Amino acid sequence: MDNIYTGPVFEMAREQFHVVADYLDIPAWERDRLLYPKRAVIVSIPIHTDDGHEKVYQGFRVQHHLTLGPTKGGTRYSPKLEIGEVGALALWMSWKCALAGLPYGGAKGGVNCDPYALSRRELEAVSRRYMQEMIPFVGPHIDVMAPDMGTNEQVMAWFMDTYSMYQGSTVTEIVTGKPVSAGGTEGRREATGRGVAHLVGRVMERLQLNPANATAIVQGFGNVGSISAMALAERGMKIVGVGDHTACYYDPKGLDVQSLLQYTAGGKLLAGWSTEGLCNPDELLTMPCDILVPAAVEQVIDGRNAGALKCRILAEGANGPTTPEADRILKDRRKEIFVIPDILCNSGGVIVSYFEWVQDLQQFFWDESEVYNRLGHVLDRAFNQMMARVERDDVANRDAAMAIGVEKVRNAKHVRGLFP
Ligand code: NAD
Repeated sequence: MDNIYTGPVFEMAREQFHVVADYLDIPAWERDRLLYPKRAVIVSIPIHTDDGHEKVYQGFRVQHHLTLGPTKGGTRYSPKLEIGEVGALALWMSWKCALAGLPYGGAKGGVNCDPYALSRRELEAVSRRYMQEMIPFVGPHIDVMAPDMGTNEQVMAWFMDTYSMYQGSTVTEIVTGKPVSAGGTEGRREATGRGVAHLVGRVMERLQLNPANATAIVQGFGNVGSISAMALAERGMKIVGVGDHTACYYDPKGLDVQSLLQYTAGGKLLAGWSTEGLCNPDELLTMPCDILVPAAVEQVIDGRNAGALKCRILAEGANGPTTPEADRILKDRRKEIFVIPDILCNSGGVIVSYFEWVQDLQQFFWDESEVYNRLGHVLDRAFNQMMARVERDDVANRDAAMAIGVEKVRNAKHVRGLFP
């Protein structure tokens, strides 16, 4: 099938899908219906700039499948965003939601802007206009947005407010990842990183590793990276390396995580935190550690560095950090490196987003302990299912996790049939 989804990130998602489709013996004629997104929307977003001019950004939303319920997925603000990347992220959301047993298809969206270069007023203008352009295509039972790279609770509050203004009443269930003061749930901001740490804990038990003797490196120090570092440190691990797109630090004696969190609170980047311990960004991922958490962008672990990783556990906080070529190398290194694949590892975010949506629909709110208890239960169920499959079929963790997700979507399509 000819399609608009091109570029290295979509190619990667497509290749991963075919590896799993081969393993599941899905016939060639059935694959396009599972692979290609149902719907893609591209909009122009004009805003007034602070210097008195106008500027137009491009906004995207891709909804992968509607078979299991509304679509669900984050909103990314990134200067190089293109439709293939958004499509790939939507696909991964589908397998992730199905693996976790959530009643959603996958979606993703975003704007090709640099959020770090916009003033707060410009960021608000982009966010409100993006949501306004998307109103005909989203809804609490159609497509529910959330944060991703470059967006945060504040952006979700603007989305919710804009949608509500057009509806004429407050519709908190239109987006998740909102501030608690505007209908958000307890625990959502920290959910992805805490989920990463929970799963790392499960794997450490299996491998009989003691957290008190373990070291970790985290790439990306935004929402997912900073909370992962904090939650791993709370479990007793020493954080020996962190980095973002402005600076990387490595110290085998351990970095002061509280000081890093304080420095970056309010959106500040890592550059300038210290003049000591600076390291080369290309080397951060291959420094020795027990747990490596890529929590920034796609394709940072590839054919060039996968053979050089020196970790015991690779916990994929980011979406798509590992290329298929790197995956083939890591399959050969399965006895040395335990991979927690992205669609499981970072699923804490969408699981608690689902809890937020449920609470908003019912207007009945839970306390933080209830949120985290339920999160642990859903993560454990998905982890146990993945491990059962790995042991039954002797496949890699990623293939097992994706196969469960793809199979659930496929089974639902089979029983529903093809309309008309
Ligand atoms: P964020 O915008 O809060 O933080 C992104 C971080 O990555 C920043 O520290 C930034 O400096 C860093 N970064 C960007 N480009 C980089 C580069 N080339 N090298 C090193 N660091 C770089 O974003 P986030 O919400 O933490 O998302 C990070 C990843 O986690 C993304 O892949 C996202 O899709 C995924 N994810 C996020 C959530 C969530 O709830 N926010 C949920 C699931 C998955």
